[in-house]
Amino acid sequence: MAPRELHDEQSTEYGVRWILTETERESIASILDIDKSVLEGMEGNVMNRSRATCSGCGKRSGLDDMVHNANQLGVHDKQFMVDVLVNGPKALSPAHAMDCSECGGTFDGLFHWEGYWGN
Ligand SMILES: [Zn+2]
Repeated sequence: MAPRELHDEQSTEYGVRWILTETERESIASILDIDKSVLEGMEGNVMNRSRATCSGCGKRSGLDDMVHNANQLGVHDKQFMVDVLVNGPKALSPAHAMDCSECGGTFDGLFHWEGYWGN
């Protein structure tokens, strides 16, 4: 399956900016029980690497997968995650493995949110 978004990321001096797609915005809003308008001002986040493509279902890794993983693991409550998405990361987090929010497969490699919004 081909990637759904061809231009879903861009290089910055800090890392690779994953441009938030409308699908991801809706998915995140659904996971966090918020209206997607809350995320209206969020256009992307800078990661340590390019997006990966799930070998199981072809989904492109995205911020929705990060939110899905954090929610599944219970590492942050929803209110905290909304705050991070709207106001930016509170602290740098270690690189971690990430599972696909659609099929549960694991993306190759480790992911790390660089902490820059990167315009
Ligand atoms: Zn998948």
